[in-house]
Amino acid sequence: MTEMWERFSYYGIRPLLVLYMTAALQAGGFGFDRAQASAIVGIYAASVYLASLPGGWVADRWLGLQRAVFTGGVFIALGHIAIALSAAFEQKAFFLGLVLIVIGTGLLKGNVSALVGGLYPEGGSRQDAGFSIFYMGINTGAFIAPLITGILGERIGWHWGFGAAGAGMLIGLLVFRSQARPRLGENGLLPSANPEEQRRARTISLVGLGACFLVILLAMAGVYTPNPVAIAGNMSTIMLTMSALYFAYLFLFAGLTLDEKKRIAVIVVLFTFSMFFWGAFEQAPTSLNLFARDFTDRTIFGWEMPTSWLQALNSLFVILFAPVLAVVWERLGAKGKNPSSPTKFAIALVLAGLGFWLMIAAADRVVASQGTLKVSAWWLTVSYFLQSVGELCLSPVGLSSMIILSPKRFVGQMMGVWFTSIALGNLFAGLVGGSVDPSQLGAMPELFRRTAYALFIAAAVLAVLIIPIRRMMATKPATAT
Ligand code: GLN
Repeated sequence: MTEMWERFSYYGIRPLLVLYMTAALQAGGFGFDRAQASAIVGIYAASVYLASLPGGWVADRWLGLQRAVFTGGVFIALGHIAIALSAAFEQKAFFLGLVLIVIGTGLLKGNVSALVGGLYPEGGSRQDAGFSIFYMGINTGAFIAPLITGILGERIGWHWGFGAAGAGMLIGLLVFRSQARPRLGENGLLPSANPEEQRRARTISLVGLGACFLVILLAMAGVYTPNPVAIAGNMSTIMLTMSALYFAYLFLFAGLTLDEKKRIAVIVVLFTFSMFFWGAFEQAPTSLNLFARDFTDRTIFGWEMPTSWLQALNSLFVILFAPVLAVVWERLGAKGKNPSSPTKFAIALVLAGLGFWLMIAAADRVVASQGTLKVSAWWLTVSYFLQSVGELCLSPVGLSSMIILSPKRFVGQMMGVWFTSIALGNLFAGLVGGSVDPSQLGAMPELFRRTAYALFIAAAVLAVLIIPIRRMMATKPATAT
C-alpha cells in the first residue's frame, strides 16, 4: 500500500509536468518552451532513479529500511505541499517541491522494495509471488493516478491535480506509520552498520543534504540560472563516463575471476540495451504526452478526455498482461524453451521499436494535414500496448539478471547500475521529448523514426550477440577460494 500510494503520487504529477510547464501563462502554466520543459522532466525522472543509490546507502548505514521509507514519505509529502503552495509562490516553490520529491523517492522506492524482499528471507517462489503483488501495487497506483490528477489538473486547476497526488502520498504515509511496526516487526528496523559507522553516515548524509539545499538556495536567489537542456546533456555525459569508469574499475582492479569478468561483460551489454529501451519508453510523459495533447482526438462518446488519461494505459496493460506473460514463459520453460534474458531484451526492443514505428505513421498524417488533423487515440493506445509488453519482457528480467550475474559482493552496486541505465534512458527521453511541436511539425516523425530505427538496430545487434552472451552466462560461478 505504501508503494502503491507513492507511485500514485509519482505518476499522478508526472504527466502533468510537461503540460503544466508548457501551458501558457494565462492558462495558469509557466509558458516554458517544450525543449526546456521536457528536459526538466528528464532531469527530474533521472534524478529520482539516481537518488535510490544514496537512498539505499543511507538506509544501510544510518536509518535502517523502515525509518528510511518513512522519512522518504515525509520528504515526498513536503514536496507536494511545496508544489501546491507554488500557486502562491510560483516557480521557486514548484522546483523546491520537485527536489524534495527526488530526495524522498530516493529514500523510499529502493528501500521499500528491500523490505518486501526481507519478508521472504527464504527467497524462492514465495518471494517471486510477493514481488508480483508488489508490482501489481505499483501499477494499480500508476493506473488510477493519472485518471484522477488528470481530470482535476487539466480541467479544474493544475494545483488540484498536484494536490491530489500529494494527498495520495499522505495516505501512504499513514498506512506505513500505522502498519509498519505490527506487520514488519524487526524486518529493516535497524541499519546494518555499527554505531561508529552510523554516526559517520549521518554526518555525510546531512552534509550532502545541506549541499543540495545550498545549490537550490543559490538558484532561488538568482545567483545562477539553470539551463535545463544543458544540464540534461551534461548529466548524461557525466553519468555515461562514470558508468564506463566503474566498469573499467571492475574489470581491471576489482580482483575478479575470468568467469566473473565474463558475467560483468554481459551486464555491460544489458546495461547498454536497457538504456536504449528506457530512452524510448520514458518518452511517455514527454513527446508522447505532447502528441496526445496536440495531435490526438481524445473524444469518447462526445466528451474529450484529459490528455493525462492516456498515460494510464501502460499500467493497465501491465496489470492485464503480466499474468499472461508469466504463463507463456512457464509453458515455454516446461518445454525447455524459456528465452534467455538477452533474447527477451531483444524482443522488448523490437516491440518498443514497433510501437514507435506506428507513431511515425500517425505523425506523418498530422504533418500531411499541416497540423490540422487530430489522429485517433488508437495509435497511442496500440503503441503503449506494444511498449508495455516490451517492458514486461525487459524490466523484471533485467533486475533479476543483475542479481544473478553479479559477483555476490557487488549485488547492491549492480542494482545501482540498473537504476543508472533507467536514469540515463529518462534523460535521453527528456532531451528529445520537446520535438513534438506544432511550430516545427517535421521534427516529430523524424523523432519517432530515429527512435524506432535506434531500437531496431539495437535489437539486431543484440540478436547477433545472443549466442556469445549465452555462452558467457553459462559459465559456472567461481567458488570462493
Ligand atoms: N513502472 C515501474 C515503476 O514505477 C517501473 C519503471 C521502471 O523501471 N522504469 O516502478
